[in-house]
Amino acid sequence: MTTTETLSPETGKAETRVFEADVARLLHLMVHAVYSDRDVFLRELVANAADACEKLRYESLANPGIASEQAQRITIALDPDQRRLTITDNGIGMTEADLVEALGTIARSGTRAFMDKLTAAKDGAKDGAKDGQDPQLIGQFGVGFYSAFMVADQVEVITRRAGTDLAHRWTSDGLGTYRIAPAALDEAPAAGTRVVLHLKEDAAQYTERHTVERIVRAQSGHVPVPIDLIDGAEGETSEVTDGSALWTRPKSDISAEDYADFYRGLAGQFDSPALTLHYRAEGKHEYNVLAFVPETRPFDLFDPDRTGRMKLYVRRVFITDEAEIVPRYLRFVRGLIDSADLPLNMSREMIQQSPLLAAITKGVTNRILGELDKLAQTDAEKYAAFWDTFGAVLKEGIYEDYGRRETLLGLARFRSTSGGDSWRSLKDYLADARENQTAIYYATGTDRDRLASSPQIEGFRARGIEVLLLTDPVDSFWAAAGVDFDGKPFKSVTQGQADLGLIAPLDGEAPPAQATPEADAFITWVKGQLGDLVSDVRASDRLTTSAACLVASEHGIDRQLERLLSANGQTPRGAKPVLELNPRHDLVTRLAALPDDAALKADGAHLLLDEARIADGELPEDTRAFAERLGRVMAQALG
Ligand code: ADP
Ligand code: MG
Repeated sequence: MTTTETLSPETGKAETRVFEADVARLLHLMVHAVYSDRDVFLRELVANAADACEKLRYESLANPGIASEQAQRITIALDPDQRRLTITDNGIGMTEADLVEALGTIARSGTRAFMDKLTAAKDGAKDGAKDGQDPQLIGQFGVGFYSAFMVADQVEVITRRAGTDLAHRWTSDGLGTYRIAPAALDEAPAAGTRVVLHLKEDAAQYTERHTVERIVRAQSGHVPVPIDLIDGAEGETSEVTDGSALWTRPKSDISAEDYADFYRGLAGQFDSPALTLHYRAEGKHEYNVLAFVPETRPFDLFDPDRTGRMKLYVRRVFITDEAEIVPRYLRFVRGLIDSADLPLNMSREMIQQSPLLAAITKGVTNRILGELDKLAQTDAEKYAAFWDTFGAVLKEGIYEDYGRRETLLGLARFRSTSGGDSWRSLKDYLADARENQTAIYYATGTDRDRLASSPQIEGFRARGIEVLLLTDPVDSFWAAAGVDFDGKPFKSVTQGQADLGLIAPLDGEAPPAQATPEADAFITWVKGQLGDLVSDVRASDRLTTSAACLVASEHGIDRQLERLLSANGQTPRGAKPVLELNPRHDLVTRLAALPDDAALKADGAHLLLDEARIADGELPEDTRAFAERLGRVMAQALG
């Protein structure tokens, strides 16, 4: 049954229906659709109680006489025998008018707005989504107090406004009507509110101590008012939380150990934070941030389902840990944001789309990256440890977050042919670039040692050109994304022409000899022999000691990226590589000198290709033919 049918089965006009029926319908809808998780009712009631305490706290600033002698406190009493849950606060309380206004008409005006939207949406899209099932629309209607009816079939509110001597009892079954009656003063709290839930049969677990304690700790552990639990069965009182919200305290009051304890509780990890970020954003939006970069890598960091782990609070009330507060490439950051501006009763979908959250995300992301940069400037060793642990994740941002690409490249550290075991920044790289060097050169692969000794980088080494050795899978993706840094493009050493001609070899390294006409003729001949096994054969200026290597063509896909993609079954292997030959190499010149019909010359051409494939860690295209050729060549050598 859809909401619209319920609204008006005869005429289809919402306006003709009696108001209370709308409320009943709405309550039904809310109870069954707004929150998938019933536990949140407790969060809502505790939040209201805490709000009431905060209001009294605030009012007593101006009117000191109003505050009670007792410290602010929320008490949750469990009565399994009566299946009753009672939440009492000694906050501001409500007058009769407040009760009507807060627990009567707020729902009413909210209902009207909600119904208007629902009708508008229905008129706008006649055959669209089922009315009342649209989570965005439902989410716009705050639930708050009424979520109590998810678990209770009868709710009593006994309340006394601070500074008055009148108490009232509000009761409702959540079906559209409520009653307000005067209450005797000795039935009511001295000041504040008592909310009694007569739980539904299927909600009896909310009188179990361990259940309630767990929910309160998880959802309201940082509510700024202490919470006591009174267990009806044993009658004993215990404090579940002490009401202090660590992040709202001044930094100077908080020790490193406090932060570490808090971090461990929050992250469920046993290490210490490598970086702690605690600040309050002021100005257009106000929010507190307490964020940690862990010391160790969580085991599920590369699980594709792993999302961010930042919690969202609104005025110290926990809202969700599923909002994407930081981008995915910062998913290792743990912590929380406490916003003063977001409304408490907002569905997760609405939160995610709110411009306020976008502003917070931007601010927090910039701040975290700024803090990392500061660490890099001030403590290279600590930063290197951070980079070791989380660099591979941060690099995802280079292609995911175009706007911060330059910043992220600035934070990135690399192994390279000249860095040994130390991390190099791109600034370091460019400072050591050779004259006439126009690109940042890199090699991608899985093994740093093999990359460092690969034939493709010989010519770079001979010219003293540093080559970044990229061994994380993510590297093949961002590096191929047309990235540049400080105006210099990234260029793979295994792709396209090396164009090293303008860069002088280092002293002691022989200058590259011009390819002789014989070598040129041989290259053309090899091309004919290999046919479509390769897309081209050409003379190389990247080889000095090896005879041959393979590179990707200028506009093709980098060979390492191609390997990664085909390992994931994403693209069929197909792009034919370019075989580069070293025209100065003894093997090449001596093969070139053989007559074209010599069997050794043809075997040699194929073996040069297979040798290049093996140097890249691949198998010869045709392993059987390879073995036969090798056999023939060995037999000939042995005479
Ligand atoms: P919200 O908290 O978003 O205003 P709720 O539905 O949770 O919406 O509560 C409605 C109103 O009822 C509150 O704004 C407050 O004025 C009043 N209220 C609810 N619980 C209490 C309480 N324990 N003490 C005082 N006022 C309360
Ligand atoms: Mg509320």
